[in-house]
Amino acid sequence: MIPRSPCNLCGAREAEDLASLDRYGKSLQTVICRKCGLVWSDPVPSEQALRKFYSEEYRLQYKGITRPTLEHVYRAGKVAAHRFRRLKGLLKPGSVIVDVGSGGGEFVYLMRRLDFDAQGVQPHEGYARYSQEELEIPVHLGFVREVRLPPESCHMVTLFHSLEHMASPSEVLEHVGEWLERRGRLVIEVPNVEATCQSPGHRFHPAHLYSFNPASLRHLGGGTGFRHLRTDLSPDGGNITAVFEKEGVGSAGTEIAGNCERILGIVRGHTLLRHFGSSHPYVRPLRKLRERVQEKRATRRFHSGRELLDAIRSRELPVNFP
Ligand SMILES: [Zn+2]
Repeated sequence: MIPRSPCNLCGAREAEDLASLDRYGKSLQTVICRKCGLVWSDPVPSEQALRKFYSEEYRLQYKGITRPTLEHVYRAGKVAAHRFRRLKGLLKPGSVIVDVGSGGGEFVYLMRRLDFDAQGVQPHEGYARYSQEELEIPVHLGFVREVRLPPESCHMVTLFHSLEHMASPSEVLEHVGEWLERRGRLVIEVPNVEATCQSPGHRFHPAHLYSFNPASLRHLGGGTGFRHLRTDLSPDGGNITAVFEKEGVGSAGTEIAGNCERILGIVRGHTLLRHFGSSHPYVRPLRKLRERVQEKRATRRFHSGRELLDAIRSRELPVNFP
């Protein structure tokens, strides 16, 4: 079939239908590029439509402006501490870090407490305001492509679960590449389209415009001026984290032989029958329940997100860096 939007990775207009429903059972046309295996919601909404959606969403959420709960801050703070431990080998004392899609600001806050010059970018007004007012950290409220920073002024840009929400991942990577110094680091974490830890019907989230596997994520970095350094999968295979280094020259026209067939095989082979034959549907809900109970218990004695993050910092992070 011919998709309504061309492939954002290789530019091809040759795709195959992958799914017609999202995880809530609503209609969502999801296609896969025959040339490279990139997966997207077709057509991809324009950036203008996304902006409208976000601003209307805010209005609906009036009162509103939702802010992260203590449980949310606890969960995100623990994840942020874990991310720091994994990335510390790539950092220099006082590094300038920009976290694109900074959520409630937990990662930026903890990095600043370790004396890094960290800032965030966040389009969700409630979360951006929470970061600015409650955590008192610098966060740009808006879309990443509106943010102007001096060229080659950053050492690291991180996108944790944000690239899949953007209208044009390749343009976003080119944009943030301009902020990075030569050999600066780009860290991207996204859901893995090959994951089989969730129920087959839960694969496609309506707010995720793109889905990647390790190969398509690696090639997206390569095509936008980055050299791939490493890729890790989370223990359950649900998330991909890739680290790149800025090189400056992208290699255009990336076709990835066999990647489309590989993803089709995995997605179509992940049937309900096979899913219920694995341990995931039994182990995963129990693990989540245990985590929620633990979060309730752990957050009980705190009155603010800031207090909570300071406790995570003193328990889990070094006093000084390095
Ligand atoms: Zn493609």
